[in-house]
Amino acid sequence: MPRVAVKSVADAGRKFPREFALLHQLGGTDKDVDSEALLKGAPVYGDAAAVKSLVEGKDSIEFEQLAKAFAKKSQSASVEGPEGNCLGWAARDGSGTLAPYKFSRRQLQPNDVMIKITHAGMCHSDLHTIKGDWGPAKYPVVPGHEIVGIVTDIGSSVKKFKPGDRAGVGVFVQSCRECGMCKAGEDIFCPKLVYTYNATQYDGSPAQGGYSTHVVVDETHSFTIPTNLDLAGVAPLLCAGITTFSPYKDHGLDKAGLKIGVVGLGGLGHMAVKFGVAFGCEVYVISRSKAKEAEAKAMGAKAIIPSGDEAAMKEAAGTLNGIIDTVSAKHDVNALLALLAPRGRMVVVGLPPDMPTINHFAVVQRNLVYSGSSIGNLHTTQQMLDFCGEKGITADVEVIDMEYVNTAMERMKEGDVKFRFVIDINKSLAL
Ligand SMILES: [Zn+2]
Ligand SMILES: [Zn+2]
Repeated sequence: MPRVAVKSVADAGRKFPREFALLHQLGGTDKDVDSEALLKGAPVYGDAAAVKSLVEGKDSIEFEQLAKAFAKKSQSASVEGPEGNCLGWAARDGSGTLAPYKFSRRQLQPNDVMIKITHAGMCHSDLHTIKGDWGPAKYPVVPGHEIVGIVTDIGSSVKKFKPGDRAGVGVFVQSCRECGMCKAGEDIFCPKLVYTYNATQYDGSPAQGGYSTHVVVDETHSFTIPTNLDLAGVAPLLCAGITTFSPYKDHGLDKAGLKIGVVGLGGLGHMAVKFGVAFGCEVYVISRSKAKEAEAKAMGAKAIIPSGDEAAMKEAAGTLNGIIDTVSAKHDVNALLALLAPRGRMVVVGLPPDMPTINHFAVVQRNLVYSGSSIGNLHTTQQMLDFCGEKGITADVEVIDMEYVNTAMERMKEGDVKFRFVIDINKSLAL
């Protein structure tokens, strides 16, 4: 691959965070860059003609010239909101409509990393929160807790990252690190947990999410990302990925040869299938009909068990060692419990609005476990990302521009996405 030396990169992360992030995103390092990748990225992220004339036939280029060729016009000129150093898209009320909003991230503290966001995944929680479905929101709310990007600056005590590294942020940005839960590595149960958005940080400032140009976070609450994975496909791992990876680990379902049922083949379900297959399990997708069988098989699933087909459900009864139920709509939980073998474990990660009635006979007589699981701890999240790097696992995504986000929310509500929307922030949002 032809590589071009890049000169004067020092401090580029601070001065030109977006272009610096692009350099690294498009196959660059601090010393050189893959010119083919640059030319390929130019029509999407910059001025194709300018990039071409800069790169073609050259052995070296100045970073500032490269930055100019990739510069994107700021969209913040006519944005409401206080003066600030960050541009996001926020919901102002329960209509849930997102629009540009300027605000400030905190100044870099000694343990902080500044991450220029390249991609943000769209999670159903984003939609529920901005609509106020789970209680009144702290408007304005910038959603997004599936965040990936490039580190552009680090605090004086940071050890894990250097500028140019890939980094990710998930569902929470602060936990106290002092309580019993934190010390036991069970950070998600910390009473002082601060979620990535719709929350208040320890310094009193509102936590705002990843539908924005950059994020500042303590290095302990950010993750390293394997360099072999496509960043757009990595973003959903930070919520959909860890949410479905944790049940396998916590319940010992990550063993080759186990028979696992995954209920629902959406954003969460398709990740649960990929993990199960990577662990060597025999994975079955439980879906109303066989309509999605080709897609399920393409991900490595053995077959679909159609929950709407009584005979098929009877045939599969008592065969599964574990079930990961990702469905958030009302559904028959007892029909699923019937599929479990003795001592089988069902782990629910979806949040249906109704309270299901559990058939205690089924649970007691066959020693079943009916359990829930929420996101995942910090160390498990890093373990999951490293595992994805080893196995080459990413989410299947539809990449969109920021301007499309409100339409994407509507489509997400209808389940019309395969399998996760991811916003290309570097392409479509600039301060
Ligand atoms: Zn989420
Ligand atoms: Zn704690």
